[in-house]
Amino acid sequence: MNSDHSPRTGFTAPAKKQLGQHFLADKYYVEKIVLAVDPKGDDRLVEIGPGQGAITFPLLRRHPKLTVIEFDRDLIVPLTEAAAPLGELTIVHSDVLRVNFTELAAGGTIRLVGNLPYNISSPILFHALDHAAAISDMTFMLQKEVVDRMAAGPGSKVYGRLSVMLQAFCEVKALFVVPPGAFRPPPKVDSAVVRLVPRDPATVGINDRKRFADVVRAAFGQRRKTLRNALNGVIDQTQFEAAGVRSDARAEQLEVADFIRLANLPHE
Ligand code: SAM
Repeated sequence: MNSDHSPRTGFTAPAKKQLGQHFLADKYYVEKIVLAVDPKGDDRLVEIGPGQGAITFPLLRRHPKLTVIEFDRDLIVPLTEAAAPLGELTIVHSDVLRVNFTELAAGGTIRLVGNLPYNISSPILFHALDHAAAISDMTFMLQKEVVDRMAAGPGSKVYGRLSVMLQAFCEVKALFVVPPGAFRPPPKVDSAVVRLVPRDPATVGINDRKRFADVVRAAFGQRRKTLRNALNGVIDQTQFEAAGVRSDARAEQLEVADFIRLANLPHE
């Protein structure tokens, strides 16, 4: 390890593979993440998976109050002790997928941050979407391949369900790539940091979220097929015409707005 770039985390613990633990160990990237978050005033920051505190403690030095959600019980006491001299750290010891972000926001909004456990990164994203109205933004590190899918547009090979679902509800911006060597232990793949800003629910324009999710899932479920075939039994020819969408197109050619128009049509 290049000790010049090692962040001061206050403690170390062996990494647990089943919890997706790859600890960020390069100060340069820690600082880039903290700068990207740029905490201000009375922002309510919530970090998912603080681990050994690589991002937590630098954030706490910039911003005196922070809530973290950590599943690994072995990290709770060391995190509490190392944070004590720095600021006010509230630790929620829980599986993040069981945390109700809307309740956590208590009528306001929270800002989410996290070097996410990659094995459950998509479920965390969908969980956050369920609470989008309570979240003002999210700065997440994930596998680069997932960030590429999140940010992809029509015509791209990696444009798919994740791209459409996230872009319908959020602005998605890929920020920068982080190489495996920045982590201990190093993951097998490149990582990337992405910023998600939930859209104002009033402007999203989706009448029924479940119907929208069903249409998008069915369309990309058989992405090589024409929409007419992939959406057989979900959208009929008159509905394609009403939405102004060609039924001989493929899902990967449609804009997010096309999916919204298709899903918003009256249906049985
Ligand atoms: N933030 C630290 C860093 O950058 O070095 C650790 C990041 S590590 C990739 C992911 C963290 O998420 C670990 O601390 C792990 O224990 C935690 N984690 C894994 N599954 C979790 C879950 N379901 N709920 C909350 N935290 C979880």
